[in-house]
Amino acid sequence: MQLTFIGTGDAFAAGGRYHSCMMLRAGREAMLVDLGGSAMLALQRAGIDRRTIATILFTHYHGDHFAGLPFFILDALFVSQRKTPLTIAGGGDVAARVRALMEATYPGFAERPKPFDIRYQSVAPGPPVQLGAFAVEAFPMVHDEAAGPCQGYRISHGGKVLAVTGDTTWTEGLLPLARGADVLVAECGTVLYPSPVHLNLKQLTERRADLAARRMILTHMGPDMLSHDGPLPNAEKAHDGMTVML
Ligand SMILES: [Zn+2]
Ligand SMILES: [Zn+2]
Repeated sequence: MQLTFIGTGDAFAAGGRYHSCMMLRAGREAMLVDLGGSAMLALQRAGIDRRTIATILFTHYHGDHFAGLPFFILDALFVSQRKTPLTIAGGGDVAARVRALMEATYPGFAERPKPFDIRYQSVAPGPPVQLGAFAVEAFPMVHDEAAGPCQGYRISHGGKVLAVTGDTTWTEGLLPLARGADVLVAECGTVLYPSPVHLNLKQLTERRADLAARRMILTHMGPDMLSHDGPLPNAEKAHDGMTVML
């Protein structure tokens, strides 16, 4: 499968980066992981046909991961002329989260008849759920339960595994999430600041050996991480538009 970083910014779009969004492609099918407020702009600039996106999977419901969805749905209605079903997946009552977001941004649109189905799929820790071509296993993360449940995911296809942390502070739950993954995409807000809601480079460096993924790619970076040019712990920094084959 092919992973493309659509948006790698933090909540403040540090460094002029777009809000969180990744695209996974397996054959002709694509899935987005998160769709932050400015991610629709990034999808447009990257020339991506939105109709190929069968599923949008959310790690949690903060705006820098979730608030691009109304624009995606409007585009599907009025620009892309979508006809095929769209699956929207995430933790907890994802349908209620989407309804509230739509009502806050485009009142009445959630209830309008649409020429395509929206299917909601709640994903919780436990056995993997099949979302189109991808098997998805959820892991509880520690971030902000008001915007939760906050989840990391192991996403499998064709024998390859991508692990994504979403937003989280350090939790030992990161170890089973990362174990044996081909690629771990880890949020890394700062170099040193010990945040109760985000990871930093010091934590990831100290525990890199325990995060037993072959390759670690850092995203959701704030200004000090973006300008940091010291050594990285067997890791690399993501950037908007970066593509990785798994
Ligand atoms: Zn975030
Ligand atoms: Zn967040």
